[in-house]
Amino acid sequence: MNYTGVREVEVVVIGAGQAGLAAAFHLRRVGYVPDRDFVVLDHSPRPGGAWQFRWPTLTFDKVHGMHALPGMELTGADPLRPSSEVIGAYFERYERTFGLRVHRPVSVTAVREGGGESPGPDAGKALGGGRLLVETSEGDYAGRALINATGTWDRPFWPRFPGQESFGGRQLHSSRYQGPEEFRGARVVVVGGGTSAVQQLTEIARVAAATTWVTRRPPVFREGPFGAEQGRAAVALVEERVRQGLPPQSVVSVTGLPMTEAVRRARESGVLERLPLFARLTPTGVSWEDGRTVEADAVLYATGFRPAIDHLAPLRLREPGGGIRMDGTRAQRDPRIHLVGYGPSASTIGAHRAGRAAAAGIGRLLAATEQPAEEEREWAGSLAS
Ligand SMILES: Cc1cc2nc3c(=O)[nH]c(=O)nc-3n(C[C@H](O)[C@H](O)[C@H](O)COP(=O)(O)OP(=O)(O)OC[C@H]3O[C@@H](n4cnc5c(N)ncnc54)[C@H](O)[C@@H]3O)c2cc1C
Repeated sequence: MNYTGVREVEVVVIGAGQAGLAAAFHLRRVGYVPDRDFVVLDHSPRPGGAWQFRWPTLTFDKVHGMHALPGMELTGADPLRPSSEVIGAYFERYERTFGLRVHRPVSVTAVREGGGESPGPDAGKALGGGRLLVETSEGDYAGRALINATGTWDRPFWPRFPGQESFGGRQLHSSRYQGPEEFRGARVVVVGGGTSAVQQLTEIARVAAATTWVTRRPPVFREGPFGAEQGRAAVALVEERVRQGLPPQSVVSVTGLPMTEAVRRARESGVLERLPLFARLTPTGVSWEDGRTVEADAVLYATGFRPAIDHLAPLRLREPGGGIRMDGTRAQRDPRIHLVGYGPSASTIGAHRAGRAAAAGIGRLLAATEQPAEEEREWAGSLAS
């Protein structure tokens, strides 16, 4: 069936980062053809997912455990090259090799039940029932299933503090950090207890006039390698949360901070002396309830991200707890929708596995829902004879 202005496909994949590409690879593998049976839509200008936006001083040697995409290893990368370039080039080669035909830049603005030219209560029926209408900057798609792989980069989390508007210096989120040079000679407060905070703080401390590190909880540094067993335990914790429909928590809250050589040196030099969160910003810095103050020219919020899933709001998948209740990669409220790179699969290895699971789950679902049509045809055929 064809509806004016709406392209019909079996599966729409939103996002072409690690998770979306892994899912697209596995869709191909189970027999779906790009641009005929499925489309991959991504609103970033280039291949690389969120990696293309990461700061230039995040060189490839500073990346922890970058897991390869399925079917193609990432070999021979220069460890001193920015990871944005290394991974951008790798993803570009990957898309080309497997002919994944990513549409970019294409923004998905909303996903709704059914649809068609005149959305309304019967619109779903107009599209043959059970279809999802995916509204995008290049027109609408109607899919029988959806793989959402939109990551978190587009939703940086900014904590709110009293006095934020009165602060006379610069406030920025870690996603806008471009390297330490812009902080040369400045007094900088870094907020946040994750890996980005530690990496950016240690870089800035080398050129800044002064740095202050504040975190909500005392940071937990992890000595030794992060083995498969710890990995499984961390994933299980996040999995349990999303199974209950709670929002996934930050990675560092379940893995701890890796104790690298650079971190050890920074600790010895006192850069990683941490203070609890301040109570408010003032025109010239930050202050705590006990009256203590620190003067600052800049406040850098390395406070993480939230899942970029606003476009799914019309589907009402969220639970009262604020998260989407998941069963593996599948949204419990709607078996047509898989989320990859969400919650327990928000790592390069997790995204890899989730992509495979989502493609397999959708393959099974679509094969099962095709069954009645087949039977109907046989039934119609028997009537005709
Ligand atoms: C600073 C930093 C460092 C990290 N380092 C590591 C590491 O070393 N190892 C590791 O395993 N993990 C790391 N992670 C986690 C990492 O982000 C994930 O492992 C993985 O890269 C995420 O892949 P993804 O495909 O889920 O998301 P992304 O790479 O964010 O890809 C999502 C894609 O979806 C697109 N998109 C979003 N919204 C829309 C929309 N509405 N319409 C169309 N397209 C859309 C975006 O443009 C983007 O291309 C790091 C995270 C951060 C923030």
